[in-house]
Parts: sequence; C-alpha cells; structure tokens
Amino acid sequence: KEVAQAYLDKIEKTSSLNAFLDVRPEVTLKEAEEADKKIRSGEASPLTGIPIAHKDIFVTRKWASTAASKMLENYMSPFDATVVERLQNAGFVCLGKTNCDEFAMGSTTANSAYGKTYNPWDANAVPGGSSGGSASCVAARIAPAATATDTGGSIRQPAAFCGVTGIKPTYGRPSRWGMIAFASSLDTAGIIAQSAEDCAIVLSEMIGFDKRDSTSIELPPEDLTVGLNAGVKGLRIGVPRAWIDKAEPGLRDAIYKALSVYESLGAVLVDIKLDKANLGVPVYYIIAPAEASSNLGRFDGVRYGHRAKDYNDLLDMIKKSRDEGFGPEPKRRILIGTYVLSHGYYDAYYIKAQQVRRLIAQEFDAIFKNECDVIAAPVSTDAAFRFDAKADPLSLYLSDLYTVPGSLAGLPGLSLPCGMSEGKLPYGLQLIAPKCEEGRLLGTAHAYQ
Ligand code: GLN
Repeated sequence: KEVAQAYLDKIEKTSSLNAFLDVRPEVTLKEAEEADKKIRSGEASPLTGIPIAHKDIFVTRKWASTAASKMLENYMSPFDATVVERLQNAGFVCLGKTNCDEFAMGSTTANSAYGKTYNPWDANAVPGGSSGGSASCVAARIAPAATATDTGGSIRQPAAFCGVTGIKPTYGRPSRWGMIAFASSLDTAGIIAQSAEDCAIVLSEMIGFDKRDSTSIELPPEDLTVGLNAGVKGLRIGVPRAWIDKAEPGLRDAIYKALSVYESLGAVLVDIKLDKANLGVPVYYIIAPAEASSNLGRFDGVRYGHRAKDYNDLLDMIKKSRDEGFGPEPKRRILIGTYVLSHGYYDAYYIKAQQVRRLIAQEFDAIFKNECDVIAAPVSTDAAFRFDAKADPLSLYLSDLYTVPGSLAGLPGLSLPCGMSEGKLPYGLQLIAPKCEEGRLLGTAHAYQ
C-alpha cells in the first residue's frame, strides 16, 4: 500500500505531463490492500503489490476505458481485457489508465481527445505515440512499467522517444481480447518498462494462449527471464546499412556505436538488405485503415458509446453520433479504409497491399533463415520531434517507415535507449527477431544494458 501510495503521489505531482487519463486512488489502494493481505498470509507471488499502468486501449472494469476518444467518454467496461486480468492475477496493482492517440491512431499522442501527453525530457518534444502516456509515465518514473499496444510502432517509437525500453511481442502471443480494436491483423499488446529485464518479467505474465482471441498462438507459457543472461557471443546481428545511413547523423552514429558494443561482446555483424520492407508504409496505410473502417463500424450510437442528443431519425442519429464522437484522425482513417475496400478499388489497393505484405514477410523469413539471428535498425529517423514539426498527416505516416515492416510480418520488435541527441533527447535502437523469439530479443537487449 505504501508503494502504491508513493506512486499515486508522484502521479499527482506530475499531472502536467497528462500521462494518465483516469486515476482512482481509492481503487488502487484497495487493490494494494488485497496485495498486502496476501503478503502477510504468505500467499504472495514475487510480483504481488508491484504497481503497473494500463494503456487506455485495454478495457478495465474499475477504470474508464475510452481509447482517448470522445466516442467512449466515461465508458465503463463490464469486463477486463485478458492482459489486464492476467497481470492482476500475477499480483500487479493498477495505477490507472494512460493517455494515447485516439483509438491508437497516431505517432504523437497529440490525437488524444483529452489533450496531449508531454515528453518528460522536453515539453516541446512529442512523447511519441500512440502509447505516449505509457512511455511518458515510465520515463518520468511515475510508474515502474506500463502496458501498451503496437499496431505499426506504437510501443517501439514512444519508448525510443522517451528513453525507455519497449517490446512488441509476436502478433498472436498476447491476447487481443479486451483490446479496443484498431487493425485486428496487426494489433499487439506489449510492455514499456525501464529495462529489457523488467520487460521480460512483465511480458512473461502477459503472453499465452487465449481461446477468446481467434488468432491467439497455441504455445505453452514461457518464462522470458530464463535467457536474459545468455549473452550475444556468436549472435549474428543483421545490419541494414541503407536504413541506418538514412537516419540523422547523430542517431546514425549512436546506432553504429551500439553495434560496436555488440561486436565487443562477441556478436557478429552481417550486412543485410531490406528491400521489400521499404514498401511498408503504403502497405500499412492501406491495410490498417481498411481494418479500422470495419472495426469502428460498431460505434453507431446504438449499443454503447456516444449518442447525439438531437436527431431526426435512426440514420441521422448514427451520422451525428459518429460525427461528434470521432476526432479527425479516426475519421480520416475510416474514409481511407472505406475507399480502399470499395468496389472497384478493392483489387487495386487492398488485395495488392495484402500481396506486398506477404512479400515483406517472406523477405524477413529468408533473412532470418539464411543471414542473421536478429536485425538491428533505427526506430525512426531521429529523436523525438517537436509538436509543431509535422503538421500534415502524411509526414507523420512516413515517419513510421522503420516500425511498420516488422508489424506487417507479425514479428517481435523491441526498442532500447542507445544514447542522446545534442538536444538532450534519447535515441532508440530497434531489434527485430523471428516469430516467437522474444527471449532472444530480450536477451540481446539485456546484454547491451
Ligand atoms: N503510427 C502508426 C499509426 O498511426 C502506428 C500506430 C500504432 O501502432 N497503434 O497507425
């Protein structure tokens, strides 16, 4: 209870970060009291009583679940997401819900209907997104760890921008049950924490088969801390020089420096060429909006969510509710998605994007089969940019170039801090591994840390 109270105090003192959307001290302290009881009666697990924050994309019974949208303002879910439930069963105490881009659409957390979250390193810099609240609160030390979701980079990019470690596991390893859907073939739960070791501890409790998620992978539970100290001797790290050299010079140098550390630890660097992966952005921005346009169809003002007050008939009610409830970015994606799925364009855009998606996945498969064990890449082309730096949506979409290819292939990816820019903002290094090799990914990051 004292630990929970200490974190709640810190959250209150740093409220100007706007990292949290819903904090209910009395509910958190009640969970903490339960944990204390278990500790006293000897029923505690090693994680009993450790505080954690949840991205407001996971539904929770005891805190509002809004996806940072007016559409779900004050919405209370009748059930907990599988990830939330599992972590609670493992002993974690929930500190509240973290801010994000509306329906996880964005790269800045400025798309939240409840105000932007600030980067603790620099209030003019974005914390990244969409899991900006989770990254910001871990970086500010007001939560030891926070759950997050990654559809096209939303764990790795904010972790990089805030100087913390974040892992997006293999698509299908964590359950999507109770995650407010954005793009179902890509949406993946994961964790942001201080280190790969902390990520390994929490992620081990999060992942596992769930029959309520039709794409859940049937694998037995895995303790991801086991391989943390395996080291990197002989590990073949794939280096896509063309990607690294495209980054800003400061970041480029920081990545090569990190790679030389790996070399000194016994890893072997091998040059690789990512070619099809360069088509990631256009493919992602067809598939993700297509799925979003379908998923967001459920918000019609009828069953739950926002309903307009004044309307003439049913159709008018639906139109007005959706117009009032959705912010500009979800609307933009619904329009793009509806367009690429419409008769006449479906084959030209959607089917074509699915075909190229397959080619990207095959390219990664071949590289991992023949050339290397992990890939080291930038997370983005630079450290966190300023809130006013990328005003048009297209430049934001283009900034996802290094994170979306791995997402399209369903691969696990991790971001770890690798130095600071001249402007004193953190740099991130991305590691990508073959499917279900989270242990290798975390061990590789841990060797550096
Ligand atoms: N920035 C990407 C987008 O806007 C990724 C978001 C995510 O991973 N949720 O779609």
